[in-house]
Amino acid sequence: MDVTPILESLNDAQRDAVTAPADPLLVIAGAGSGKTRVLTHRIAWLIDVEGVSPQGLLAVTFTNKAAAEMRGRIEALLQIPVSHLWIGTFHGLAHRMLRRHWQEAGLPQSFQIIDSDDQLRIIKRLIKGLEFEDDRWVPREIQYFINAQKDEGLRPQHLDDENDPNRRQQIAFYQQYQEICDRGGLVDFAELLLRAHELWRDNAELLAHYQRRFQHLLVDEFQDTNSIQYAWLRLLAGKTGVPFVVGDDDQSIYRWRGARVEHIQQFQQDFPRASVVKLEQNYRSTETILDAANAVIANNTGRLGKNLWTEGGRGEPIRVCSAYNERDEADFVVGKLRTWSDQGNARADAAVLYRSNAQSRVLEEALVNARMPYRVYGGLRFFERQEIKDALAYLRLISHRDDDSSFERIVNKPTRGIGARTLDSMRSYARANSCSMWRAAGAVASDEMSGRAATAIMVFLNLIERLAKDTDGLDLHEQTDHVIRASGLIEFFRKEKGERGETRIENLEELVSAAKGFEPDPVEEMSPLDAFLSHAALEAGEGQAEAWEDCVQLMTMHSAKGLEFPLVFLCGMEDGLFPHQRSIADPQGLEEERRLCYVGITRAKETLYITHAEQRRMHGTDSFSQASRFISEIPNELVEEVRPRVQVSRPIRAPLRHARSASGVAPGAELGVRLGQRVRHAKFGDGVILNCSGQGAHAQVEVNFESVGTKILVLAYAKLDLM
Ligand code: ATP
Ligand code: MG
Repeated sequence: MDVTPILESLNDAQRDAVTAPADPLLVIAGAGSGKTRVLTHRIAWLIDVEGVSPQGLLAVTFTNKAAAEMRGRIEALLQIPVSHLWIGTFHGLAHRMLRRHWQEAGLPQSFQIIDSDDQLRIIKRLIKGLEFEDDRWVPREIQYFINAQKDEGLRPQHLDDENDPNRRQQIAFYQQYQEICDRGGLVDFAELLLRAHELWRDNAELLAHYQRRFQHLLVDEFQDTNSIQYAWLRLLAGKTGVPFVVGDDDQSIYRWRGARVEHIQQFQQDFPRASVVKLEQNYRSTETILDAANAVIANNTGRLGKNLWTEGGRGEPIRVCSAYNERDEADFVVGKLRTWSDQGNARADAAVLYRSNAQSRVLEEALVNARMPYRVYGGLRFFERQEIKDALAYLRLISHRDDDSSFERIVNKPTRGIGARTLDSMRSYARANSCSMWRAAGAVASDEMSGRAATAIMVFLNLIERLAKDTDGLDLHEQTDHVIRASGLIEFFRKEKGERGETRIENLEELVSAAKGFEPDPVEEMSPLDAFLSHAALEAGEGQAEAWEDCVQLMTMHSAKGLEFPLVFLCGMEDGLFPHQRSIADPQGLEEERRLCYVGITRAKETLYITHAEQRRMHGTDSFSQASRFISEIPNELVEEVRPRVQVSRPIRAPLRHARSASGVAPGAELGVRLGQRVRHAKFGDGVILNCSGQGAHAQVEVNFESVGTKILVLAYAKLDLM
């Protein structure tokens, strides 16, 4: 057999991993060392050389996009159709398992996946339903509590209230929330994993079947598995399974979502026969980029420790740009992107990464002004848009009347005279009788109410019944098309003024195209509509459809994991933003931020820009900050400081050295002041220090006063009060 294509362009260590005997194996290696490549080639090797049936493999990737890419690569390597392979995210695979075994899992056949918005809506309703008004309960906190329990595999009955009334109430919310979901056949993201775990735990025969079937279990990004995911794998592996896991402890960035990097050690305990392969050559980046990443991550403690080297050559220095404010920063980035694109490079090869989603808006504005096509990966995606969720809610209710979150979403949309009071009485009825809103609506309208309210409800109930009848037997896209029109949604958005309404209608029409192009997963046995709705819910969790236009990629550093680009910008590298304010004081949190920085830097293949702004307006307030401490962790010789042209608004600008002044101390520190510090002047009032220069009697500060603007003052005479 010709194994050349599979083993081609693999180094010795990679080849060892790919061709290893059927025993548990752990590949632990730094960024860009070919972990994902090894995993893909291992699958090809098992199928083609070891003769393992494609049906005998289960491979877990971090995103659906990564799964699609992996399928594509295996298809190219083996030239076999791979749509039936069990390659997907933990959530996707768990979902597939539950669809097949809904009965054993205790779910209705047409169960629906709800996203975190739907989840939050149910929780808000629970809080409102408390007997006493109580603003102690923050919906997002309850949501976090519930999901955290599920991620640990815990049901309400497993939880002890520890005699703490607060905790007792949280557990009660969890319990009630779960009852609502169970009644409505609703499954949230965390529930997918938990149910799939329980399915195997409680069905020995079923588990044995899958243990025989999936002998080879392959997991990418292993460092970010949470407890329930690990437990699921552990169960499936049993005594005979062959797990093949790859990961990098330095890239564990989802602790806040329950991921536990400790699973790397746990794995070695649970599978004492496991061999460990280390990969040390990086194939992605230049030496400069790699050295910078290594220097930054070296500040973390408790690492497994790895050597990483590259033959990529020294390459260009890392360019650090200090911008005046966030607009200036965005203009700088767009200017560089323009040059990149004018030089004939693909825009899709450039990525703009940031710490927090909110940063994208200003960048987007600058891109729009410059007419530079871009796409936000992981932002508000198609399936998350309001009008799309409205249309999907109609479709869901047609397929599943007891879906409370869909019911609440559209019962009065378009407006049909169902007011808050009517809704409240339906909710109380539903609570008192432990039934769905749909049933409650029917009961309330016929018994308790008269007149307008009852008529309005009946109109809605009849509408849904009629939609169900009229779309029965139609193709999926015809169903969708019928529903967006007959529900009144198109009419409703037409009344919304201006471009906004038009966009919404375009989006609704796009949904019909999406339905038309939708190909259900052949493995899942369910109606096309249910398959489409599940697809929408799972897709909304991550990237949007492939863009057909060549465009710049915008995303958070979290979503950039596993990806690579020739040109990368890391924006907003300021203390307080990155590392994030809430992590600065917490050593563990700070280390996680540093790992995120390591992920960010190592996305770059050739060119890396790091930008920060002295002043930034976010969430409506201005703040002044210093360059991120992570910048100062990069050795000087790897960095070239570039600045945008001097701003007209700042005619006088003393050379500003951020974070690292010649003496290694923060600028101003020796003067007893710091950048961004608030001060008060007897005549000019309150202001903020923008700049410090000079020493001793010559020390000057530049202060932006709220009432009179920017002034440069000699520190010795200014008599500033520090605030
Ligand atoms: P990350 O930690 O970021 O997920 P990774 O370890 O999974 O990275 P890959 O994405 O698999 O690394 O590989 C990084 C890049 O190096 C890819 O472009 C890949 O094609 C290339 N590469 C990996 N191994 C080799 C090799 N032996 N020869 C040539 N190119 C390679
Ligand atoms: Mg990878």
